[in-house]
Amino acid sequence: MPATVPCQYRTGKTLGSGTYAIVKEAIHIHTGKYYACKVINKKLMEGREHMVRNEIAVLKRISSGHSNIVTLHDYFETAHNLYLVFDLCTGGELFDRICAKGNYYEADAAGLIRTIFKAVKHIHDAGIVHRDLKPENLLFKTQAEDAAIMIADFGLSRVMEEEKLSMLTEICGTPGYMAPEIFKRTGHGKPVDVWAMGVITYFLLAGYTPFDRESQQQEMEAIIAGDYKFEPEEYWMNVSDTAKDFVKYCLTTDPVKRPTATQALAHKWLADTEPHFVANP
Ligand code: ADP
Ligand code: MG
Repeated sequence: MPATVPCQYRTGKTLGSGTYAIVKEAIHIHTGKYYACKVINKKLMEGREHMVRNEIAVLKRISSGHSNIVTLHDYFETAHNLYLVFDLCTGGELFDRICAKGNYYEADAAGLIRTIFKAVKHIHDAGIVHRDLKPENLLFKTQAEDAAIMIADFGLSRVMEEEKLSMLTEICGTPGYMAPEIFKRTGHGKPVDVWAMGVITYFLLAGYTPFDRESQQQEMEAIIAGDYKFEPEEYWMNVSDTAKDFVKYCLTTDPVKRPTATQALAHKWLADTEPHFVANP
């Protein structure tokens, strides 16, 4: 029996789950329109309710203005749960598409990375750092092969009013995508998103992530040292030097020297493949 979300929505199948939330399909009873409803258990979040308020505040600030960022449609709460209602993405996570394909063709990877980076630039320009960019938080709007990709999950995001690098020091994120400065606790900001984009690009091109190690300790040490390789050769032989150079650029260990989203977008790998309108093909 479907549960009834306060008055207006009826929830259906589970779409996904993360650290604190279960996301379910929800139908708006009056209009028959489908949404994705993030259900957050207040007990589980005890003491961290501010994280949800932060997620809502950030989404209100940015999501309606960009076609590649999930839109928060509605929000309400009951005694036990908090509910965030989003426009539904029916195409699944980028993570699952990479796993299904094995890896992406370089031109397709460049197209996706350019789109995501433009949305990251939009987020950064609004003074926000996402801090949890990874293929589980990048969703396809529809099931179509060329569906728009959407940045989701602003649960760990922060508003950074000043261009200061040293504001945030807590350790958070998903280890494989976390930048060296997060582990070093030297302060972090927008550059952590660029690092994560480097890891995502590597994953798209090869089908596996660069810092996978036997233990979390070894993984952390590899990240801090920027110790990764474009190996085994068989996974990289069809990848261009320009693509590898782009990955290297984003995986600059020093956050001060790491490119900004704007600089990454200007890299040859993304700038040269930007589709141009052809008048007379
Ligand atoms: P958490 O903070 O717990 O990781 P997310 O916001 O990432 O929560 O949501 C968890 C999962 O639910 C996502 O990885 C995705 O699979 C699914 N999901 C989230 N938002 C949507 C949406 N708008 N449409 C479809 N599925 C979604
Ligand atoms: Mg998530």
